[in-house]
Amino acid sequence: MADCELLETCIFFNDQMAEMPSMSNIIKERYCRGSNTLCARHMVFRMINREAVPPDLYPSQIERADEIVGSK
Ligand code: SF4
Repeated sequence: MADCELLETCIFFNDQMAEMPSMSNIIKERYCRGSNTLCARHMVFRMINREAVPPDLYPSQIERADEIVGSK
């Protein structure tokens, strides 16, 4: 699968994960360069918009993403 279109500017990596490069790389390989449709951040972006994605939302927090999408 192609890299996520948000990878260059994703706040999650440019801010939240800046202090954790090894963890960051694992997540990146799994979601950003893999299945970005499974990423909770990408889900909120797709369903609502970029502004609706909380800075601290982890790619694995699908339930939280569901709540955000469901509340809009
Ligand atoms: S964390 Fe999600 S939204 Fe951000 S670049 Fe990776 S796949 Fe895309």
